[in-house]
Amino acid sequence: MKEAKALFQKLKIVSLLDLALILPTSYKNTTLSSEIIIGKVNTFEAKVEEVSNINGKLRITFWLPKFHKRLSSMLFRVTPYHYHLFTIGSKHFIQGRVEKYKGFLQMNQPKSLKQIGEIIPKYSTPLKADVMRSLIECYINKNNLYAEGLNKHEVKTILGLHYPKKIEDIQHYDQDILKFVEAFNHIKKLRGKRKDFPAIEALNGELHSFINKLPFKLTKEQQSVIYEIQQDLKDKNRATKRLIIGDVGSGKTMVILASAVMAYPSKSILMAPTSLLALQLYEEAKKYLPKYIKTALVMQSSSEGEYLNADFIVGTHALLFKDDLPKASLIMVDEQHRFGTKQRALLEAMMAKERKKPHYLQFSATPIPRTQAMMQSELIDVSLITSTPFEKDITSRIISKEEFPELLEHIKEEIAKEHQVLIVYPLVEESQEIPYQSLDEGRGFWEKRFKNVYVTHGKDKNKEEVLQEFRDRGNILLATTVVEVGISLPRLTLIVIVGAERLGLATLHQLRGRVGRLGLKSYCYLFTNDKDNKRLQSFIQTMSGFEIAKLDLMFRKSGDILDGTIQSGIQFKWLNLAEDEHIVKVAKERVKILYGAFPNAPL
Ligand code: ADP
Ligand code: MG
Repeated sequence: MKEAKALFQKLKIVSLLDLALILPTSYKNTTLSSEIIIGKVNTFEAKVEEVSNINGKLRITFWLPKFHKRLSSMLFRVTPYHYHLFTIGSKHFIQGRVEKYKGFLQMNQPKSLKQIGEIIPKYSTPLKADVMRSLIECYINKNNLYAEGLNKHEVKTILGLHYPKKIEDIQHYDQDILKFVEAFNHIKKLRGKRKDFPAIEALNGELHSFINKLPFKLTKEQQSVIYEIQQDLKDKNRATKRLIIGDVGSGKTMVILASAVMAYPSKSILMAPTSLLALQLYEEAKKYLPKYIKTALVMQSSSEGEYLNADFIVGTHALLFKDDLPKASLIMVDEQHRFGTKQRALLEAMMAKERKKPHYLQFSATPIPRTQAMMQSELIDVSLITSTPFEKDITSRIISKEEFPELLEHIKEEIAKEHQVLIVYPLVEESQEIPYQSLDEGRGFWEKRFKNVYVTHGKDKNKEEVLQEFRDRGNILLATTVVEVGISLPRLTLIVIVGAERLGLATLHQLRGRVGRLGLKSYCYLFTNDKDNKRLQSFIQTMSGFEIAKLDLMFRKSGDILDGTIQSGIQFKWLNLAEDEHIVKVAKERVKILYGAFPNAPL
């Protein structure tokens, strides 16, 4: 087809399997029913036995020879045409919904069909029906589907849905096959996008003495991720591209530091989203890294150490504006989702040498379901850290107004123990739309009753200073969800989230991750007017970010309303990332067997 490309654009598709997966939304079915199905549309051969006029309505009794049964019909909108059509003794193919009324079969307002024996697919797309039809006929055939890598069963199922021959083709197909085709298609596309470049150099620094001198033993997962990175960095032919995902507190900083050690004597750079976080990472680097690794800090306002001569440079996005930044062979980004794609690409471009690129490690504290990680690993290698070095002891509770006095007591107790409390409000200013207090409305209450109450929010220019002061001197911090930033407040043991049901599970999890960072017994109170909320109830049952990412998907699938704070993943029509791990696995294997590193170019 000549204009196919434009049509694909209109349909927003790029591959043949994309087209194959645009299935008919309904079918016009004129095949005769082989059985009578009550409550459904049936098509029968029928002979008129009796006709009577009741108050302008027409009652017809049909005889169904195939079933040896009578069926009565009412025609409510009667025209002279109907009188001519349904004469006694005339034979018809009638179609309509069949009901049972007082033991008799009924089909009201039946249609008399001229032709039978066809199942005609109907698509709802932006294209005209005949254009869509010819597009399907042009591309969706046995040969093309086999060429895409599908097997006999998959081809049969897909063809059965686009060109059904019998009703079973559209009624009894295997959902898992569609799930598979969807996963397979997606993975193929991702693999087609991955581009690898040679590394600037292979890195293979000595790691043992660093690990042996740490005051604690690395967890199994920290060790295995470090081992994976070690293998990556040794490869001169392929610059590392790896995303390390681990819950807050899973010990990613140690992985970062170990990577800097492996890069030595070559240089490495670490970029963090805020000055506070950069400072914290810099301090940890100075504390744990061997002394021969010279470390420097680069920020907009202040810097420390000689970054020109440093082996390991930690900084904020201020790094991107230094035109004398030394070339590094390893770059790392912490809390990568807080940077834009452009910023992340810029750092890489600054370090590239012609076609050679630096090894690149990105760190994220936003867990994704394992299946999604499996998919994503077609584009970028993914490592998951699912455990934390020490069990966090956090009790989560759902509370409402009635429990507020109890909460107040508890807050006093924690403060008496020199612990800190964080209260998260849904909004800064009062709003009619939200049935909870705002930060502005709530602050008076706390300031009157407690000392050292600090307040900050997303648009607060002094946010970082407030957080820093609070960390050192505060009792209570009132905030909006800004505290999502990964700063460490070791004495924080109680968090109250006001209007918790309004937040996505991922956000709630990030917030809860603020407390108990060093293993102190901690509490998370979800304050809500909706105590029976199913999402909140499942949230308080688990502490694992990976489990929560899975729950999140399940609730999204079931159509629960969520805020916009969760990253929008790809939407699948059939595949359920929360449940279909085995299907994704098989699809990945098939792609690998068929295409190796070089899949078909997309259409
Ligand atoms: P995150 O993954 O959120 O960046 P961090 O790297 O900040 O987590 O680690 C959280 C805390 O756990 C830090 O205080 C760190 O020193 C400590 N930690 C890291 N690894 C271990 C370990 N293997 N054993 C004990 N404590 C550890
Ligand atoms: Mg971290």
